[in-house]
Amino acid sequence: MANGDMKSPVRVYIGAALARYGFGEGHPFGPDRMDAFWNEAKRQSLDRKVAIAAPEQAMEEMIHRFHTSDYIERVKALSLTGEGFLDHGDTPAFKGVYEAAATVVGSGLAAVETVMCGDYPRCFIPIAGLHHARRDMAAGFCVFNDAGVLIEVLRLVHGVKRIAYVDIDAHHGDGVFYAFESDPDLWIVDIHEDGRYLYPGTGHANETGKGVATGTKLNLPLMPGADDSEFHRVWPEAEAHIREAKPEIIIFQCGADSIAGDPITHMRFTPAAHAHAASSLRDIADEFCQGRLIALGGGGYNRANLAASWSEVVSSLL
Ligand SMILES: [Zn+2]
Repeated sequence: MANGDMKSPVRVYIGAALARYGFGEGHPFGPDRMDAFWNEAKRQSLDRKVAIAAPEQAMEEMIHRFHTSDYIERVKALSLTGEGFLDHGDTPAFKGVYEAAATVVGSGLAAVETVMCGDYPRCFIPIAGLHHARRDMAAGFCVFNDAGVLIEVLRLVHGVKRIAYVDIDAHHGDGVFYAFESDPDLWIVDIHEDGRYLYPGTGHANETGKGVATGTKLNLPLMPGADDSEFHRVWPEAEAHIREAKPEIIIFQCGADSIAGDPITHMRFTPAAHAHAASSLRDIADEFCQGRLIALGGGGYNRANLAASWSEVVSSLL
């Protein structure tokens, strides 16, 4: 782990404690996802081009910035027994789920520290971007909403006001969207499979934010089977929206389940779409955010797809 080049502009969080966030061998969101990515990244020699950092577990008080006390206590209790569900049947508990989920959050918080103090402008956390979790419950394989915690901590600890959250996972990022629906300083772009055909069923084009936040959220639902040509058709609108936001930092959820061949979605992007989004966001971050960009792996259940598209994202951020 000592071969990261200190001159690299990108820090990547890798380690067994992060990989552990998964729901058992054979589950779509299994604990083998991080290694699937990292083996491909090493094959491309990316491990010698990025700085590698160990995962960190978040302190409970930081998780509190987004989640309710009752819910955190429930996760801790089920983490001891490893039995039952954290929601209505999608997200099973496992022994140590609290520590694993807190490590997803803590690695993101370490990335926030890193980019805010200027050590590295850009970070990538492969097992992260758990965008379905709500303040008071788990949902869709997501226990703690790391992006939500990061947004709250950027505001409360670092005084950052305007943040852009960009999500190209096949699923709508409902846990982030509805938590900040009325927040005029969280600008969202969410490209996803139309909710009429895929979980969680939300993210319609007419959902643009509420009250003073109206117009700060851009949902771009695509029909099942949408390929790179559809991505390129809508991406200029996404770019224009983020530029209008003039954000101080960009959080990028680059879920790989929008790539053709994912077992639980119907989208048909190639990893080139993820590469294009990442390099475009890198340029916008350079223009508005002093380079600050945190990329979160998000979904992706075809291992070859997540390995290829996350490697493309890291390459584009270098
Ligand atoms: Zn997804």
